[in-house]
Amino acid sequence: QPFDQRDGVIWFDGAFVPWADAKVHVLTHALHYASAVFEGERAYGGRIFKLDEHSRRLVESGKLLGFDIPYSVAEINRACEETLARQGFQDAYVRPIAWRGSEMMGVSAQNNRIHLAIAIWQWPSYFDPAQRLKGIRVDLAEWRRPDPKTAPSRAKATGLYMICTLSKHAAERKGYADALMLDWRGQVAECTGANVFFVKDGALHTPTPDCFLDGITRRTVIDLARRRGVEVIERAIQPEELGSFEQCFICGTAAEVTPVSEIADWRFTVGDLTKTLMEDYHAEVQPKASVAAA
Ligand code: PMP
Repeated sequence: QPFDQRDGVIWFDGAFVPWADAKVHVLTHALHYASAVFEGERAYGGRIFKLDEHSRRLVESGKLLGFDIPYSVAEINRACEETLARQGFQDAYVRPIAWRGSEMMGVSAQNNRIHLAIAIWQWPSYFDPAQRLKGIRVDLAEWRRPDPKTAPSRAKATGLYMICTLSKHAAERKGYADALMLDWRGQVAECTGANVFFVKDGALHTPTPDCFLDGITRRTVIDLARRRGVEVIERAIQPEELGSFEQCFICGTAAEVTPVSEIADWRFTVGDLTKTLMEDYHAEVQPKASVAAA
């Protein structure tokens, strides 16, 4: 079913509208000039995992594009929760998006209203479940993440996804599931919708997020690994080093923790630490009955 013709409701500027009616005009600034920011969240058992962190990042992404979303973090949290309740899902994907409207046309958008919408749908697994456990095959992308001086590269801004779609399509044409992008310096950065981790001698290695999204899943995985006493090293990683790693996985809200078996000509095993972190992440996202009882 196409995404614009589904049942249910979408939260749109403070009110619920029927799913198929949640439309914008073709002269929307965001459509022409990529003046939009968004989030991707997951609900498990009726609770949105790290909702407050996601809403904060949404507001922060808007500020990086020079606009203030006209709702507080608390209001955005409540709107996401109310939309989830209205949709009636226990497990679902949550997509808030904020964008500049159509009052002015042209690069300048000083008087454009900032809109906010929240759509929630069921999106079980980002990668083919059968393939996921064997590890996915990833290509090395031609496109690179821009210098933070060239673009607000830490914002979850729609414009930055132009690079991701180009990279993902090129990888898919060659039969790969995803693409690993390098940054403008040629260092390992991230995949098209997920962060990347490597395992060597029992330690985790992951690139420092200085020009790409510092994923909320990434931070969760670092926390889970450290709780198990696993050393986590955030550093610059060169593509020439890929051959020295034993395991690799990617992580993100949609992808969760997904093992990687290949990146271009490099091979990895789905090892114990990767499997442990997949399980730990799965346990971590479930709603806790009572924190006080723990
Ligand atoms: N990098 C990119 C490009 C992404 O789209 C995502 C998914 N939002 C991530 C990393 C992972 O971020 P998070 O764990 O916050 O979902």
